[in-house]
Amino acid sequence: MREVEVPVLIVGGSLVGLSTALLLGHHGVRSLAVERHRGTAIHPRAAQINQRTMEIFRTVGIEQIVRQKSGEQFVQDGAIMAVETLAGKELAWFISNLNEGIRDVSPTERVFISQSLLEPLLKARSLELGAELRFGVEMVSFEERAGGVTAVVRDRASGSEQTIHAGFLVAADGAHSRIRERLGIRVRGRGAFSNSVTIYFRGDVTPLLRGRNLSVIYVNNPLLRGFFRFEKPFNTGFLAINMLGDPDKPITDVSTGLTEERALELIRLALGSNDIPITIENIMPWTATAEAAEHFQRGRIFLAGDAAHVMPPNGGFGGNTGVADAHNLAWKLAMVIKGKARPDLLSTYEPERLPVAEFTVEQAYSRYVTRTAPYLGTKGIQPVEDDLNVELGYAYNSAAVIPDGDVAPRLHENPRESRGRPGTRAPHVWLDFKGERISSLDLYGSKFVLMAGPDGVDWPESARRAAERTGADLDIHRVGAAGLNDPGRSFADAHGIAASGAVIVRPDGFVGWRAADAAQASAETVARILSALTCR
Ligand SMILES: Cc1cc2nc3c(=O)[nH]c(=O)nc-3n(C[C@H](O)[C@H](O)[C@H](O)COP(=O)(O)OP(=O)(O)OC[C@H]3O[C@@H](n4cnc5c(N)ncnc54)[C@H](O)[C@@H]3O)c2cc1C
Repeated sequence: MREVEVPVLIVGGSLVGLSTALLLGHHGVRSLAVERHRGTAIHPRAAQINQRTMEIFRTVGIEQIVRQKSGEQFVQDGAIMAVETLAGKELAWFISNLNEGIRDVSPTERVFISQSLLEPLLKARSLELGAELRFGVEMVSFEERAGGVTAVVRDRASGSEQTIHAGFLVAADGAHSRIRERLGIRVRGRGAFSNSVTIYFRGDVTPLLRGRNLSVIYVNNPLLRGFFRFEKPFNTGFLAINMLGDPDKPITDVSTGLTEERALELIRLALGSNDIPITIENIMPWTATAEAAEHFQRGRIFLAGDAAHVMPPNGGFGGNTGVADAHNLAWKLAMVIKGKARPDLLSTYEPERLPVAEFTVEQAYSRYVTRTAPYLGTKGIQPVEDDLNVELGYAYNSAAVIPDGDVAPRLHENPRESRGRPGTRAPHVWLDFKGERISSLDLYGSKFVLMAGPDGVDWPESARRAAERTGADLDIHRVGAAGLNDPGRSFADAHGIAASGAVIVRPDGFVGWRAADAAQASAETVARILSALTCR
């Protein structure tokens, strides 16, 4: 078969592989993704999609369709709570409404949509943006060579093999990543703590919900511990079970030898009712694990998603963290491939994403211990941070961020308090652009963007000259000029600058640099900053 050349080869065409293909396509980079399975996910695993992921989807034009499909599949704004059984006693409410108290920080919302519905949307948009996706095709070997990676892929149906020459390889090949293994990259963390199962079933649970709007229902009783999720109209769902028996000395191997009869019994135990006819549809074993790879990059090969970090599902962080990896990596690959940044920019992927992944893994673990597995003990675990800080408040510290003075950003904080600090996600502010209400975030996503406060009159011209000099792709806006208005007069304050200051936002919507006022509004300074942010 003919050999193929492609800028980026992605191994794994599930949530993170597809997101990588989509985001590379958004940046105008051709990629080829190979996925061993014949199609996208058939089982819902990830479903809780956080605001950051929705913001990313908004940038690539699929926010609305994701919201629409999610509304068809799940009740939105549900609670995350714990019960003894679905029919029985309520034990705790962790979040009473998925979006309560967080709508001010983002133009979008948390939604529930299962991978089985989401992945086809990612696939369709990736194809529109020029990605090549091959299902039923697996990568069987790879070799890094000077200037690229050579891989052999095999069509599983025909057995025919093909050699792919790629500039870069993204390993989105899941928790048991062979690529990570082959590269000899070790993982560190808390290891595996349960052979869990997800039991997919049919059965009308409406009477047991008693009108409650519930997104995730933890079940904690002396016989089992896990969680339910139900889809509209509440006649399908799953029960994930992490342990059985005495909560102080639980049986953590739930999956070995689990029969359909026993699975049915467990569903009934968790429902607290024998009255509802239940059909078991499938039983999927998985390992509850909390660990991250020691490295996310080896030369031209990058780990993303579960290949780079695995965490228990408590908190709904795993898939979202993988999408954020893809988002961080895509613009860097694009700039390097297009010659707009030095390859050193790619070396900022690991220092930016690895600490965030480790923090998120620990946060998921803390939720697992406190919500499901107290027998593991709370000594030495991180305190549970507000979900919002985990989802939107993580910060980067790398060569692609220029801190204020010598103050490095904290690893995470409340996104309402970061206020444009370099290394944090640029805050959302409602603006008016040529008569249309937009979020400030809608201005980001493809290029660097210099945003000047309303009195920062010198910035646009300086920035224009700097972009010309450096060849950087830079959009330039001054609030209050050229049809961009700030009806709430909050832009400068939200970004921690005076009205004459400015921020430079990276293509991933993170603040790369900020100037408190106009003192540095020269072309020389902006050129120097743009060069630094692209590692030139
Ligand atoms: C019960 C449960 C509930 C969860 N809920 C949530 C949630 O609400 N929110 C959330 O964010 N996360 C959640 N997660 C976690 C989330 O499902 C995972 O983090 C996410 O699916 C990981 O996606 P991935 O693409 O990195 O890996 P995977 O989904 O594992 O995909 C890897 C893909 O690579 C393919 N592959 C591997 N090797 C090769 C090869 N050599 N050639 C070709 N293809 C290959 C595999 O076939 C596979 O499709 C949940 C997990 C579980 C178990």
